[in-house]
Amino acid sequence: MSAQDDCIFCRIAAGEIPSDFLYEDDLVVAFPDISPLAPVHVLVVPKEHYENIMDDVPAETLSALAHAIGIVAEKTGIDKTGFRCIANTGDDGGQTVHHLHIHVLGGRPLDPNAGEGK
Ligand code: AMP
Ligand code: ZN
Repeated sequence: MSAQDDCIFCRIAAGEIPSDFLYEDDLVVAFPDISPLAPVHVLVVPKEHYENIMDDVPAETLSALAHAIGIVAEKTGIDKTGFRCIANTGDDGGQTVHHLHIHVLGGRPLDPNAGEGK
């Protein structure tokens, strides 16, 4: 899918809205969540617009997302202490930005019973 002018994450990924990328490659970018819920709260986002994980995301993009999560964890120093990845999907999932993104949260013990990432 092509970039959508009215999509905030398309615009961030395209560099139209300034953000501090922690990681970037041909397929994905990673940048800090604007309202962090943990000491580390990074969003890993495909550059192409996909609504969410149900949107026929190519395998190479899924692979790039997984690769980027590992890099982000190492760069932010949570690779050894642990972290949580969340992809809120659709209405019941509480998705508010309708461009696929993976929350990467860490830097403190996360409540195993809480849906942190929202
Ligand atoms: P979700 O509820 O899973 O769709 O999460 C959307 C996330 O995007 C929230 O955690 C927001 O804080 C975050 N967010 C919204 N706008 C921006 C922005 N301009 N830059 C960074 N993060 C954003
Ligand atoms: Zn988008």
